[in-house]
Amino acid sequence: MLTFQQLQSITQGKEVQFVQSLPVVHLLTDSRKLSQPTGSVFFAIKGKYNDGHKYLPQLYAKGVRQFVLEQGEPQELQQLYPEANILQVANSMQALQQLAAWHRAQFNVPVVGITGSNGKTIVKEWLSALLSPDEMVVKSPRSYNSQLGVPLSVWQLQPNHTLGVFEAGISQPGEMEKLQAVIQPTIGIFTNVGSAHDEGFASREQKVQEKLKLFREVELLFYCADYELLHQQVQAQSIKSFTWSRQQPEADLYISATTTAGHRTIVVYTFEGEKQRLTLPFTDEASVENALHCLAILLYRRLPLSEIQERLDRLHPVAMRLEMKEAINGCYLIDDTYNNDLAGLAIALDLQASQPQRGRHTIILSDVLESGLAEEELYRKVAELVQAHKVERLIGIGATISKYNQLFSESDFYTSTAEFLKVFNPASFRNEVILVKGARVFEFEKIVQAFQQKVHGTVLEVNLDALVHNLNYYRSKLAPDTKLMVMVKAFAYGSGSFEVANLLQFHRVDYLAVAYVDEGVALRENGITLPVMVMNPSPDSFVKLRQYNLEPEIYALEQLEAFVGSLEPDAKYKIHLKLDTGMHRLGFEPEDFEELFRLLEQYPQVQVASTFSHLAGADEAIHNDFSQLQIARFRSMAAELEERLGYKVIKHILNSAGIVRFPEHQLDMVRLGIGLYGVEATGSEQEALRPVSTLKTTVSQVKSVRQGDTVGYSRKGIASTDRTTATIAIGYADGYDRRFSNGVGQVFINGHRCPIIGNVCMDMCMVDVTGVEVKAGDAVTVFGIDLPLVELAQNIGTIPYELLTNVSTRVKRIFYSE
Ligand SMILES: *Cc1c(COP(=O)(O)O)cnc(C)c1O
Repeated sequence: MLTFQQLQSITQGKEVQFVQSLPVVHLLTDSRKLSQPTGSVFFAIKGKYNDGHKYLPQLYAKGVRQFVLEQGEPQELQQLYPEANILQVANSMQALQQLAAWHRAQFNVPVVGITGSNGKTIVKEWLSALLSPDEMVVKSPRSYNSQLGVPLSVWQLQPNHTLGVFEAGISQPGEMEKLQAVIQPTIGIFTNVGSAHDEGFASREQKVQEKLKLFREVELLFYCADYELLHQQVQAQSIKSFTWSRQQPEADLYISATTTAGHRTIVVYTFEGEKQRLTLPFTDEASVENALHCLAILLYRRLPLSEIQERLDRLHPVAMRLEMKEAINGCYLIDDTYNNDLAGLAIALDLQASQPQRGRHTIILSDVLESGLAEEELYRKVAELVQAHKVERLIGIGATISKYNQLFSESDFYTSTAEFLKVFNPASFRNEVILVKGARVFEFEKIVQAFQQKVHGTVLEVNLDALVHNLNYYRSKLAPDTKLMVMVKAFAYGSGSFEVANLLQFHRVDYLAVAYVDEGVALRENGITLPVMVMNPSPDSFVKLRQYNLEPEIYALEQLEAFVGSLEPDAKYKIHLKLDTGMHRLGFEPEDFEELFRLLEQYPQVQVASTFSHLAGADEAIHNDFSQLQIARFRSMAAELEERLGYKVIKHILNSAGIVRFPEHQLDMVRLGIGLYGVEATGSEQEALRPVSTLKTTVSQVKSVRQGDTVGYSRKGIASTDRTTATIAIGYADGYDRRFSNGVGQVFINGHRCPIIGNVCMDMCMVDVTGVEVKAGDAVTVFGIDLPLVELAQNIGTIPYELLTNVSTRVKRIFYSE
């Protein structure tokens, strides 16, 4: 076992304190993911938005006794953490990488390193599955391919493994050398060259060159020679390679034809002078390319053709999404049908643990497919993980997990999914967070269906990764000490306030804001502990407001009088003062100040936590002068206020558009709204954001209408020629605006934009699908990547805000991350 002294010599760290000899089993970099304190070493990493050093006291209190950190006075550290082993290093991330590199070097096994613009994760998953009959494979969990993810992946290598498969992703020069040192691949796969992360590099050439650094020491590199840029550089660097190509017969593997037949692709290829054919269980271009990389490796390993075909037949699309959704009896489902191995299980359990507010935690778990461990040891580890994450009930499904039932406390076992469904009693699940985690063969989607409430086919899918991306984009524009308030009013702009708020709490924003007290109460009841400002609290809700520790916006004297009228003498109450600088909606004006100060002096229990104003035209450049005027007025009013109060008050004026347009006026805090949800209100940086919401529905029926027939109410849709129409399950009651009627709106079906025909009805509307292959049950996108919100809003003369917040609450929200 690794000792503290070794850790010190590997990382070249300075010993601040050595107290006791402890095992180094878990590398902890995120304080929220602590589950087994005893064997954990915490690496305090300084990130762009956070600093691990902030969490030392909390981790120490929870029993962590080993720390690698960058800062702190030795004496002070010894005093604060008398029982901890502490190492000080120049860079904690680098120390983590050094440790992983050292660990990697202990194993003399082949290791496959994978990089490229797309397909890394899928190739990694498929290759691991294809080789698992012959090898004990260890692989990166999910898409752990970053500076942090790679060391954590490689740390999983154990003596029983015979092959490692790890992916590496970079976004700028200088990163790949570090990942190479950690993975030390002996075999390489370069999946392809695309546009992803182009912005981080001077040129495509430079990007390819940087990525190739992963393969500095490989014995063999597999790649497709049809990527010219890549091919030239591999040749120039004389990296030993195995190439495949659709164009060059001299490649090691020559693909002379790929043709689709139903749901399969027939591949005709020549390898070592022999022409053969086999089929792939996919037809889309990306899957075929990913599978061909794998084929190259299987051929290189000289597997017999019949065996290759058999293994390829078992490949399936990798479910990258992890979905969260509401279910029967107040339950909440975390649906994760990604590969069910130990590392994937640990990640899913972490996510479940981050939802502590929603009641007790249950897991429905299939046999765990892990090739690396003896059965009993494997299930012992599963039981440990489940216990460490405080899961209260386990339902095990599968013959193997059932065999080890004695390892689990509160639990039930079934040998198959069908057996579980036969006795499934919805009433025995109530107000629980249920993690559904099963290997593909167990078809847990049937269990998920059984748990889901009956809904019509319209859903709003909310991409939590995109949300975090947008959050970080705005954060990158802020000075380090500028605070961030996020607007989650109106059901978080239609996205679902609790889930969004929970994510924002996880990512440690400073403040949330809602419009009404009830919205704030709902957040508190779902376990949101962040400070919450309520923008429009009515006097009859003040009691509730205080009961739930919500902070009112105060914008008028009568309102302040009503608020102070009912205060307890010794308590403290935070308020936020809204100043009117030109919006003329709500807020104090200079002439109110004397009376305002008189009241505040009279009620010292009331503390002004912040003061703010709102820009009327930050989204449009023509109003820049006016915005500047508002900002100047605000600065002077706020300064006067602060002076009169005699203490510091947080000052804020910028909304999403303001953050982009006037970064020099961030003051103490900004208020992020629409930008978080993927719409860049000034329009100039829309490219930098990711769309968050996709509104989807399904086709209910397809019809042929003849020339002269009419479609829908008032006979507004007139068929000028014979047409095919599809009736889709969304109408104005779902929030699909009636202004989209009669060709103004379009929806996206099977790769085509199809216009609305006739008037939008309450629960449905009809679209013209002439010439498009469409059948009942097909998916329809109403807005999303293929139909940007901004464009839809323009078509009916409104703004994206309205479209987002109009999506009715009867439309089910599904939250997912990749
Ligand atoms: C809604 C709101 C915001 C956020 O505006 P966006 O344009 O969505 O960024 C900021 N401040 C106040 C007072 C608001 O009401």
